[in-house]
Amino acid sequence: MIKTDVLVIGAGPTGIFAVHQLGIIGLKAEIVDNLDKIGGQCIELYPDKPIYDIPGLPSCTGESLTKNLLEQIKNFKTNFHLNERVEEVIKEKNNWKITTNKKKVFLAPNIIIAGGVGSFEPRKFSVDNAEKFENKGIFYSVRDKNYFKDKKLCIFGGGDSALDWAIELSKIAEVTLIHRRNEFRGAEHSAEMAKQLEKKNKIKIKTPFQLKSIEGKDNIKSITIQNENGNTEIVETDFLLGFFGLIMKLGPIAEWGLNIDKKTIPVNTENFQTNKEGIFAIGDICSYPGKLKLILSGFHEGALAARACFKLARPNEKYRFEFTTTSKNIKERLGVKKID
Ligand SMILES: Cc1cc2nc3c(=O)[nH]c(=O)nc-3n(C[C@H](O)[C@H](O)[C@H](O)COP(=O)(O)OP(=O)(O)OC[C@H]3O[C@@H](n4cnc5c(N)ncnc54)[C@H](O)[C@@H]3O)c2cc1C
Repeated sequence: MIKTDVLVIGAGPTGIFAVHQLGIIGLKAEIVDNLDKIGGQCIELYPDKPIYDIPGLPSCTGESLTKNLLEQIKNFKTNFHLNERVEEVIKEKNNWKITTNKKKVFLAPNIIIAGGVGSFEPRKFSVDNAEKFENKGIFYSVRDKNYFKDKKLCIFGGGDSALDWAIELSKIAEVTLIHRRNEFRGAEHSAEMAKQLEKKNKIKIKTPFQLKSIEGKDNIKSITIQNENGNTEIVETDFLLGFFGLIMKLGPIAEWGLNIDKKTIPVNTENFQTNKEGIFAIGDICSYPGKLKLILSGFHEGALAARACFKLARPNEKYRFEFTTTSKNIKERLGVKKID
C-alpha cells in the first residue's frame, strides 16, 4: 500500500502541473495514468503540433510542453504509475483507498482527478484475428517510425493521421493507403500530396476498400481487402496501421459516486472540489459555468485544488500563501541552488 498526501489521476498537462503546485506547498503526490506515456492529449494526439496559447511561451509543441512541465517538477521526484488505470475509489476512515487495475493500492486523504476526457482508446480493426497481431503486426499509433524502415505497410483511415503517416512513412517504407471512401477527410493539401506521391509510385492508394481478413500465422503475410461491390484484392504486407480515431470513455470514474454531468464532473470553483470531500476535479474533466477546455484553465484549477488539499493532508497546520520569487521554503523544495 502506498501512502501519500494526494493521488493525482491523469498525467496530462493539468495533472503534472498540479503536482508542481502540491510540491511547492510541501505536499507529496503520486500520479497514475493508464497510458504508457506522460502528457495526456498533448502527447497522444498532437505531440508535434505547435500550441500558441500557453502564457509566456509564444509557441511550443505538445511534446516540448510536457518535457518542460516534467523539468519543473523534477525536484519532487514524483512517482508516475503508467499503464495503470484507477478502477476503484472507496472511503476508509479519513482517507481514500484507491485501487488500480493492476491491484496497486494507494491511501490518501485527497484525490485530484485530472482525467481529461477519460481513458481514450483507439478504434480498432474489427476482423476476427486482429487482436492476436496487436502490437506485433498491427498498431494504432507510431512510436518509432524506424521500426517500419524498408517494410511493407498498409495504412488504414481517411483522416489527418492516416494521411500524415502515409506521407511520412513513404520516405522509408513501402506504403499502401487504404480508405473505405474515395474522398479523404483530412487536410486537402495532405490528400493532394498523397495523390502526387501515388503518381510518382511512392504510395499505393486503394479506395473505396475495407479490410476483410488478415492472413498469416505468427506474423502478418498479407491482407484481403474488399470494395463496396464485393470485389476483393490481396495485398502483401508486414504491418497494418489503423487510424480510425479514438473512443473517449469516462471509464471507471463514472462509478465512484461523483456527480456526473455530460461526461464531466461538476465542481465548486472556490477549490475545485467535487460532491465528495477530498476529491477534486481539474482540467478537461471538470465542469462549471464558463469552463474553457484549455490547458491554461487546468493550470489555474490545479493551483486552487492543491491549496485545498493542504487542509486535509495537514489538518494541524495553517496554509500560508507565499510567492515563488521570495519564499525560501518554496525555493528549497524546488531545489533552487542559490537562495537569494
Ligand atoms: C488536436 C488538439 C489540439 C489542441 N490544442 C490546444 C491548444 O492549442 N491550446 C490549449 O490550451 N489546449 C489545446 N487542446 C486541448 C488540451 O489538449 C486539453 O485541454 C488538455 O490536454 C487537458 O489536459 P488534462 O490534463 O485535463 O487532460 P488530458 O490531457 O486528457 O489527460 C488526461 C489523462 O488522464 C488519464 N486517465 C483518464 N482516466 C484515467 C483513469 N481512470 N486512470 C488512470 N488514468 C486516467 C488519460 O489516460 C490521460 O492521459 C487541444 C486538444 C486537441 C485534441
